[in-house]
Amino acid sequence: MSETKIATVAIIGGGLVGSLNAIYFANRGWKVDLYELRPDMRLPEQKKLQRGKSINLALSERGLSALRATGLDLETVILDSAVPMHSRMVHLGKEGRQMSQPYSIHGEHINAVDRARLNELLLDQAEKMSNVTIYFEHQLHQADLKKGSMVFFQGETKSEVTKYADLIVGADGAYSKMRAQMMRKIRMDYQQQYIDTGYCELYMPPVMVNDQPHYALDPNHLHIWPRHTHMLIALPNPDKSFTCTLFMPFDMFENVSSKQKLIAFFQENFNDAIPLIGEDRLVDDYFSNPRGALITVKTSPHHYSDKAVIVGDAAHAMVPFYGQGMNCGFQDIQVFHKVLDAHNIKPTVHNNSISGLATALAAYSDERVKDAHAICDLAMYNHYEMRSAVTSTRFLARKKLEGWIHLYLPKLITPLYSMVSFSTLPYSQAIRRWHQQSFWLNVVLGAAAVTTTSATAWVVYRMVRGPPSPPPRQSSAAISGAVSSGLKTAANVANTSVQSIGSLASSAANAA
Ligand code: FAD
Repeated sequence: MSETKIATVAIIGGGLVGSLNAIYFANRGWKVDLYELRPDMRLPEQKKLQRGKSINLALSERGLSALRATGLDLETVILDSAVPMHSRMVHLGKEGRQMSQPYSIHGEHINAVDRARLNELLLDQAEKMSNVTIYFEHQLHQADLKKGSMVFFQGETKSEVTKYADLIVGADGAYSKMRAQMMRKIRMDYQQQYIDTGYCELYMPPVMVNDQPHYALDPNHLHIWPRHTHMLIALPNPDKSFTCTLFMPFDMFENVSSKQKLIAFFQENFNDAIPLIGEDRLVDDYFSNPRGALITVKTSPHHYSDKAVIVGDAAHAMVPFYGQGMNCGFQDIQVFHKVLDAHNIKPTVHNNSISGLATALAAYSDERVKDAHAICDLAMYNHYEMRSAVTSTRFLARKKLEGWIHLYLPKLITPLYSMVSFSTLPYSQAIRRWHQQSFWLNVVLGAAAVTTTSATAWVVYRMVRGPPSPPPRQSSAAISGAVSSGLKTAANVANTSVQSIGSLASSAANAA
């Protein structure tokens, strides 16, 4: 006898990506079981424990678009308490001279949002939906993917409990247990890379003026103190404080091992930040907050048959320098559900199978793996850009030229940052476009360099030889020879620059 029932999805991980996915699945009529390892973060005693974890995040168009597509006004709620950041503020030299670098010539901005508040909002919303059940303190221990069974360690006693689902989604972060279960079943390509840089969070309190809190720095900027091998950044919080993150190689963290060394190190590198953070608080935070490691994880495929799929950091963890980890994870969810729509996947199980799901999951992997890899590489490249390139005159001139051409010929050139942060263009296409644009930009720069050099040489020559005598008649062959040699030189200059740009991302990644 044939049997039809409502499909159940188990989502492992109630972080940002898992809880958004629960809302999407509930919207399409599935029965949703969301399993989270930690206790409910909304409980007062849990809030205290969150100190020292990355507390604010840059939310940009990809993330916003995924929130918007729920149709639940989540975007408005989160943006209500977000702080817009229109530009980078680069703090240069010992005296901290500030240089504002707008993110977009059209005034677009990214948003500093409170990570915990966003997660709580998503959990609140998921919990409101009648077809969602959230199981806190459920740690996935193992899964039999073929049978759809999962064993969890539950509560403080870690007693074992077995649960079932028709589809299991791993949204359990960079060290995903679900991914490990899938790797036992399929030939999943897997790469992980730690970078030498770690991070530590520091708190910059509001400045009190007439008992009123004010921001210690301009709030509409993402502040960066780039120092080549290391850097400090600061993102604004709605309560007028900033969360600062110190990124530096682990051996530097080890060398800065006493209060005196820390103060001397800050005086040398981030002197203007000391009075804003406060010496005592700086010492306190630096020595008591955890040091985080930064990992890149690439996987392929992201799915197993019609049984399982991984999303968010579980599928693609990246270093945080493009501010895209969560944005990319949110976009995973939007893309995933578009693929389910395109394959007309219904929330029903007929004779233990969901019609078309295997094909849909394969299509999702096909579409998303290349984009996940692309943003992992770009995030690594931005590590170099943030800690170093933002201080280089060549880099700034190039950015100005890019921005200027984009203003007048937006179809010809769109800056990479805009494609990544202010659009939903697939990341792999953004990289492809960037390479094409770089070629033409370098042709222009090469031609400009050749013209300027030739003009200067001509002026110098004339100054040495005196004013020109009437020009002798030149044969057309001589003229076309001169023109083609000029073009060749321009092309050579362009080619050399293009090659260096082409290898920039990978060499920066290696250097990082
Ligand atoms: P996670 O947030 O890691 O959530 C995974 C969840 O799964 C957790 O709740 C965990 O408790 C749970 N879990 C784990 N194992 C199990 C298990 N076995 N069973 C059940 N549950 C389990 N991204 C941005 O877009 N913008 C930024 O500005 C930005 N800044 C960052 C700054 C720093 C310093 C760092 C480290 C990251 C930053 N990111 C940023 C990246 C962003 O934090 C991550 O990409 C995002 O949190 C990924 O969400 P996720 O839900 O996939 O994973």
